[in-house]
Amino acid sequence: MSKIYFDHSATTPVHPEAAVELSRFLTNNFGNPTSSHYFGRQARKAIEEAREKVAFAIGVSSEEIIFTSGGTEADNMAIHGLAYANRHRGNHIITSAVEHHAVLNTVKALTKEGFTASILPPDRYGRVNVNDVAAAITDKTILITIMHANNEVGTIMPLTEIGRLAKERGIYFHTDAVQSFGKIPVRVDDLGVDLLSISGHKIYGPKGIGVLYLRAKTRWEQTLFHGGAQEQLRRAGTENTPGIVALGKVAEIAVNEQEREADRLIKLRDNLIKGITQKIKGAHLTGHPTERLPNHASFCFEFIEGESLLLKLDQRGIAASSGAACTAGSLEPSHVLTAMGIPPEIAHNSLRLSLGRDNTELEVEYFLKVLSSIAEELQVNP
Ligand SMILES: *Cc1c(COP(=O)(O)O)cnc(C)c1O
Repeated sequence: MSKIYFDHSATTPVHPEAAVELSRFLTNNFGNPTSSHYFGRQARKAIEEAREKVAFAIGVSSEEIIFTSGGTEADNMAIHGLAYANRHRGNHIITSAVEHHAVLNTVKALTKEGFTASILPPDRYGRVNVNDVAAAITDKTILITIMHANNEVGTIMPLTEIGRLAKERGIYFHTDAVQSFGKIPVRVDDLGVDLLSISGHKIYGPKGIGVLYLRAKTRWEQTLFHGGAQEQLRRAGTENTPGIVALGKVAEIAVNEQEREADRLIKLRDNLIKGITQKIKGAHLTGHPTERLPNHASFCFEFIEGESLLLKLDQRGIAASSGAACTAGSLEPSHVLTAMGIPPEIAHNSLRLSLGRDNTELEVEYFLKVLSSIAEELQVNP
C-alpha cells in the first residue's frame, strides 16, 4: 500500500480544482486588485466573487468577510481588535484552556496590557460548560472566545448555548472555526457569534490564506498592520489574490459536499474508534464520544509510548500525529489533554487520526492491521 495520510487536522492537500484557480491567478491573471486597468479589474472581480462564496457558506453578507493570511492572523485580529476597541467598556475576556495557541497566546499577551482573562477548564471530554461561562461573566466582560471544534480531540463545543448567553449579556462572541468549517454546518446566526476565524489550508485550500468574519456594526478596530486601505481599511497589504480565489473555490465545494462527506467520514472514523479501543489494550478515546468532528479520532494509550508509535507508523508509510502539529517535538504534554484531566504520563502517549476526502475504508482496515502489529512490538506489559 502506498503512503496513507491521516493528518488532515494539521493540513490538507490543495483540492485539484482550487489548484487550477491558484495557478491561473499566479500566472495569467496576476494583476494587482487595486489597479484600475484590465489586469487589476480582473483580479478585483475574482476576489469579490470569492468573498461572496465564503459569505454564502457561513450565511453572512460579503462586506462582513475580511481576508487574512490564515487562521492565526484571523484569531489575533479578532481578539486584539475587539479588546482595544472596547476597553472603555471593560477589560475582561473569557476563553477556554483548550483553545489553539493562536487564541490562548493572544489572550495571554493582552493580560500584560491591563486586560484580565478567565481561562475556563473543560470537562473530561474537552467541552466547555455553559454554566461555567455564565459564572465567569462580570460587568467588565467584553469578549468571549471559544473554539467551535477542538483540533486535538475533535470535541464540538456548545456554541449555540454560549452564543445565546453572550447575546443576552451584551458581550461579543468570537469563535475559532478553523477545524469545524467544511466538516459540520457553520452558520453564523445558528451559532450566535459576532466574529469567526477560518483557515484555507485546513479545508483543501492553500497555506497562508484565511478569513475573519466580522459582524456588521461590531465595535472593532484594526490593530495589526499600518498600510494601505485594502479590505475596507480592515487589513492592509496587497490582497493574496491566488489564495483568496482558491479559498472561494474550496468554500463553495465545502458547501456542496459537506453533508455527504461527513456521512462517509463518520463511518471510517467509527471503524477506527471501534477497532482501536477493542483491539489495543489500554487504549482510550480522547474527546467527546458523540459530539466530535466526523473526521477525527484521537486516543491515549496506557501501555504504548506515543513517540515510538508515531515513528513506527511513519516507517510503515502512515502519517498521523500526537495532537497538535505546532507542538510536535516539544516535550511538554499537550495543554488540551492535561486540561481535560488526563495524567501527563498518559497524555504523552497520544495519537490523533484525522481523515480527509481521499481516505478509504481499505486504508482504515490496513491501518488497524498495522497498528495491531506495532502495538505487539511496543506494548509494555501492564
Ligand atoms: C491550524 C489552526 C489554526 C491556525 O491556522 P493557520 O492558518 O495555520 O494560521 C488556528 N486554530 C485552529 C483550531 C487550528 O487548527
